[in-house]
Amino acid sequence: MAAPDGKDEFLSKAHEILIVGAGIGGLSAAIHLAANGQRVKILEKNATVGGKMNEIAADGFRWDTGPSVITMRHVFEDLFAAAGRRLEDYLNLVPVDPLTRYFYLDGRILDIHPQLENTLQAIQQFAPEDMEGYEKFLAYAAQIHRITGPVFIYNQPPTWRSFLKVSPFDALKIDGLRTMQNAIDGFVKSPQLRQLLGRFATYTGASPYRAPATLNVIADVELAGGVWYPRGGIYAIAKALRALAEELGVTICENTPVHHIEVQDGKVNGVLLAKGDFLPAEAVISNVDVGTVYEKMLPSVPPKRARDLLKMESSCSGFIMLLGIKGTHPQLAHHNIFFSRDYPREFDEIFRLGVPPSEPTVYVAITCKTDPQDAPSDHENWFVLVNAPPLGKAYDWKQQNYREVVLGQLAKFSVQPNIVTEKIITPPDLEQMSGARRGALYGTSSNNRWAAFLRPPNRAAGIQGLYFAGGTTHPGGGVPMVTLSGKVAATMCLEDLP
Ligand SMILES: Cc1cc2nc3c(=O)[nH]c(=O)nc-3n(C[C@H](O)[C@H](O)[C@H](O)COP(=O)(O)OP(=O)(O)OC[C@H]3O[C@@H](n4cnc5c(N)ncnc54)[C@H](O)[C@@H]3O)c2cc1C
Repeated sequence: MAAPDGKDEFLSKAHEILIVGAGIGGLSAAIHLAANGQRVKILEKNATVGGKMNEIAADGFRWDTGPSVITMRHVFEDLFAAAGRRLEDYLNLVPVDPLTRYFYLDGRILDIHPQLENTLQAIQQFAPEDMEGYEKFLAYAAQIHRITGPVFIYNQPPTWRSFLKVSPFDALKIDGLRTMQNAIDGFVKSPQLRQLLGRFATYTGASPYRAPATLNVIADVELAGGVWYPRGGIYAIAKALRALAEELGVTICENTPVHHIEVQDGKVNGVLLAKGDFLPAEAVISNVDVGTVYEKMLPSVPPKRARDLLKMESSCSGFIMLLGIKGTHPQLAHHNIFFSRDYPREFDEIFRLGVPPSEPTVYVAITCKTDPQDAPSDHENWFVLVNAPPLGKAYDWKQQNYREVVLGQLAKFSVQPNIVTEKIITPPDLEQMSGARRGALYGTSSNNRWAAFLRPPNRAAGIQGLYFAGGTTHPGGGVPMVTLSGKVAATMCLEDLP
């Protein structure tokens, strides 16, 4: 008998949808589908949800092992609102100030703050001639965000037709023909500020010397929108999405690797689990790296567009050190960047030579600055990240001891003798842990002015009922973007269901 509120009748019309992977994109897709009354099951190969977002605890320390900078708070608010919930009932996102502390080899330090007036004060001390240029750059980046947001970020993947809706005047303003760095150099003169603003290319795993200037939009996202830290650690986001998904009735099966996605007559009909069971489904959303899916998880030869995808340059990977350090460093902030001397060489080594930088820029996040319980007293939990090439033939991570190179860059803090516990995550580990093809953090690289159009769309080419959600499809990588991609994939799936 139908429930008085009609819920049973509603559920009987629900379709069985499988999601492969419980990364943030998979969880977001599941939440949108379940909030729209569908029956959703997530199949996750690992023992925990979150994918690249994960955490490790050891010897009294806790570290987030993947993302550490969370921007675009509104994206998470919208996700909870789509399920009729309030973000603040699940997550306590606190603003981080300074956004980042930048250290230069000449000994100078620059703090960038959420409040523009505080940043301008810091720039006045640091490079007074660039105060006006910095403000103009921010206005330029905000303009790119305004124009590109509806086409490239917040809606379904761009098509030439959707792009034609942008007026010719606006199309020029999105600055797609120059590189990021060319544009930045036109606004500020100080080499240090140029390096700082160029660094935002790495948020998509790209090089500022090759990525299109349109990606200066990332600076607006962080410098105007701020950086947020969830109390309890970045992993609190994965936990909150899991809790919300389960409240909505989503079944999450951990330790359940999918062997391949079954396709019959050009239409998805389910998945085959690694342990041999077949699970039927009306639609499948894959949260696994699109390259990995086309290379390994579809039984038939992938369509030409997919084969072309496998030939494209990958975004960068990362070399990570989780360090428990004895002593405290009041001169460090929550987010710190130690810049290298020669930024162009760094990206040349990563993308042309395929080797990790010989003198890398080093990023250090210390969450115990905000959440003191993340380290024992008089100790700190350092998450150290260096950009690294995607896996290839030029470098063998098993043979080389890159740890020493990275610690060498931090030598002035006497880190090495004070390490009390340590774990290293290399690009091959990232590939193994999340299924990221070549260990690339963001799928295909954005070192190309057509990247936004070449990125694989959320509807699989030539396979009905198969969708993609996550950092390797539209709108791209990074936690807020994959959250949006889950929404896009779920919306497309709902549109196509009978
Ligand atoms: C070191 C590092 C630092 C980063 N820093 C930031 C940052 O500061 N800010 C930011 O916004 N972003 C950052 N990112 C990027 C961000 O973490 C990712 O873009 C995002 O988390 C990817 O989410 P996703 O939905 O694509 O899924 P993924 O995290 O890639 O998850 C995919 C899931 O699929 C599962 N899976 C794979 N194969 C199978 C299979 N055969 N069967 C079942 N399940 C399978 C995996 O186990 C995994 O759980 C960082 C990433 C890394 C690794």
